[in-house]
Amino acid sequence: MEYSENNLSSPKYIKKLLKDHNFSLSKSLGQNFLINPSICPKMAEMSGAQNNFVLEIGTGIGVLTKELAKIAKKVCAVEIDSNLIPVLKETLSEFKNIEIINQDILKVDLPKLLNEKSQGMKICVCANLPYYITSPIIMHLLELNLNIESITVMVQKEAAQRICAQPGSRECGAISLAVRYYSTPELLFNVSRGSFFPPPNVDSAVIKLNINKTPPIQIENTPKFFELIRAAFSQRRKVLINPLSSKLNISKENLKNILSNLNISPNVRAEQLSLDQFANIFNSIQNQYVDKK
Ligand code: SAM
Repeated sequence: MEYSENNLSSPKYIKKLLKDHNFSLSKSLGQNFLINPSICPKMAEMSGAQNNFVLEIGTGIGVLTKELAKIAKKVCAVEIDSNLIPVLKETLSEFKNIEIINQDILKVDLPKLLNEKSQGMKICVCANLPYYITSPIIMHLLELNLNIESITVMVQKEAAQRICAQPGSRECGAISLAVRYYSTPELLFNVSRGSFFPPPNVDSAVIKLNINKTPPIQIENTPKFFELIRAAFSQRRKVLINPLSSKLNISKENLKNILSNLNISPNVRAEQLSLDQFANIFNSIQNQYVDKK
């Protein structure tokens, strides 16, 4: 694919930029930079960044950061790789509304950071995520119950399908249910591997998680509820009562009775259950829940 010269979408320009800064790409940090010029403006616009505060995760050389800064009031971007900071000083020099924070997104005090920097503006998250920690980052953002509107992220295509899967569908996993507890997910568009420099071995997709103002189900102990869901999906090919019985230390007989009282077949598998049904099972066994850890 050919891109115009002398900008962040040109592999020739990127190679020169990185060479000038003595920068070597890190595979382990997931450094595949977007070079397809149509993707970043589209992502920025669909993220709801317009006149709002944006948290970006992983700037790379700043190609998405720039597009966000053009339409947002302020962009706060967290990048782990200190070697990228001098590069960003050059590529983002024309923008006054960008603040780069050189840290690991999983270690930043996000509630404090967002509270201090956003100054009452609506907050959106937008990022082309490093694929090696896609799920931990998404779950971290959701579980912190941050005061944010949405999370628009590029992830591996298969991860996007799993994250956005409907409960009860074949693709549904523990993360699909957790995501649906906190948000309403949307699959926005696919992105081919040729849109990156260097190209990764997989295709990607952009998803948007619209944060729920109130959860769709009432649960008293959310961490325990998600432990049950993870236990249920730990052996997804088996009928639900097998993994639940072994992981939660509850007899199969007892579990059969609970399912029967809820009008759920004893042969049901985790992927066939809705979030509501999981909530009912959890509430029924809560008193007998014994953690084996
Ligand atoms: N946004 C850029 C783009 O679209 O071209 C770069 C995306 S690249 C897929 C992922 C970026 O995340 C890299 O710059 C990498 O250094 C950074 N990164 C990796 N792990 C990180 C972490 N734990 N916290 C913050 N940034 C991280």
